Amino acid sequence: MSLSKEDLKAQVKAEIDRRAGEIIDISTDILAHPETGFFEARTSEVVQKKFGEMGLAFTPELARTGVKARMRGRKAGPTVGILGELDSIITPDSPVADPDTGAAHGCGHNAQIASMIGAGLGLQAVMHHLDGDVVLFAVPAEECIQIGERLELKEKGELEFVIGKPELIRLGAFDDIDMVTITHTPHGLDDSHASVGDTHNGALVKRIRFSGVAAHAGSFAHKGINALKAATIAISAIDAQREKFHENDLVRISPIITKGGDATSSVPSDVRIETMVRARTVEAMREASETVDRSMRAGALAVGARVEIETVSGYMPNNPDQRLIELQYANCAEVVGADNMGGARHQSGSTDVGDLSMLMPVVHPRSGGTEGAPHSREYYVRDHTLAAVNPAKSMAMLAVDLLYDEATEARAVIASAPPKLDRDAYLKLRRSFDRNEVFDGAAH
Ligand SMILES: [Zn+2]
Ligand SMILES: [Zn+2]
Repeated sequence: MSLSKEDLKAQVKAEIDRRAGEIIDISTDILAHPETGFFEARTSEVVQKKFGEMGLAFTPELARTGVKARMRGRKAGPTVGILGELDSIITPDSPVADPDTGAAHGCGHNAQIASMIGAGLGLQAVMHHLDGDVVLFAVPAEECIQIGERLELKEKGELEFVIGKPELIRLGAFDDIDMVTITHTPHGLDDSHASVGDTHNGALVKRIRFSGVAAHAGSFAHKGINALKAATIAISAIDAQREKFHENDLVRISPIITKGGDATSSVPSDVRIETMVRARTVEAMREASETVDRSMRAGALAVGARVEIETVSGYMPNNPDQRLIELQYANCAEVVGADNMGGARHQSGSTDVGDLSMLMPVVHPRSGGTEGAPHSREYYVRDHTLAAVNPAKSMAMLAVDLLYDEATEARAVIASAPPKLDRDAYLKLRRSFDRNEVFDGAAH
């Protein structure tokens, strides 16, 4: 007997409701054990154990901690990826922080892992009615933190990119996936229970080192070259150009001084800056990046210091697929009620789902269920039903839509998507941002 799409969705929802306690337990367990990107060993174990209990064969240790399992439909067809991110951020003053490491789930990724597994639990009841596969994928290191540690891993040849999904793309781990859904907890200001269709800025990371000449700050300041002055001139030079950025490009440049000198009795000779450079398009990212580099050179030139500028690619801009948005929206509205749906907006923050959006159709809905502002000490998942169980249902229902009846919808999504990059073209684009420059202000 062939069941209708609605019958299958009802089965999926009933199964997820039946197992809601298990899904909530995963979310609360991971919330209590936060781990930062590429070091999510325990969180990865939680996923592996669950996949094992579900009877799924899985591949672990993808980009160090990623775990991937394939659920097969009744016949071969397109593959829908359902993702969850493994990593936490670091906010030591958060009430949910690990007291030893300062790591905390201040971005709600604990609920993502639970919703990804929950969607799998629901879909297992109906896979034998679907004409394609679902891949459940726990992915590492979405957050752009601990760049120094990650660059050390790069030095050792353990990874190339400092962010998880780009590294997985490089390793070919997305080659057998045709489209992706992943639900994040709220970043909006409303208290809606779901929204679908946010777009995101792309981002680069810059690590900058000004080198001057140390000298006694009291007796021999005239013999020194002040690297801190070079750095402050450079930051002012960025600020002087902010009005040049077009509103539509939503450029965000956020420098911090990570080292300001060695001793107050000595002219600072070693000063370091880190900054993210964010913008809405690849072209605007390049332009803003050049503005920052020029400003750094200006600071070095003014005082005759030397500057080293290391640019590390972070995230590509995120542009979700229109057809996936429509399908996912209908499912979210069915789960949370149309009155509880919020609007989509452009986020000037970033996600490496953007990198995936360059290669395949993606959708990145948001759930409800958190307290506080993202990445703050107050932010954590308060309501695991809103943040994990509901998204499990809406993502599983999307997979049913896509893979039902010869996977007609999935094929239509693929056919109607705007042109995408292949893996080589994507890697070439991403690597085009990675560069090191040395400018000696004394030599000009
Ligand atoms: Zn985050
Ligand atoms: Zn996040």
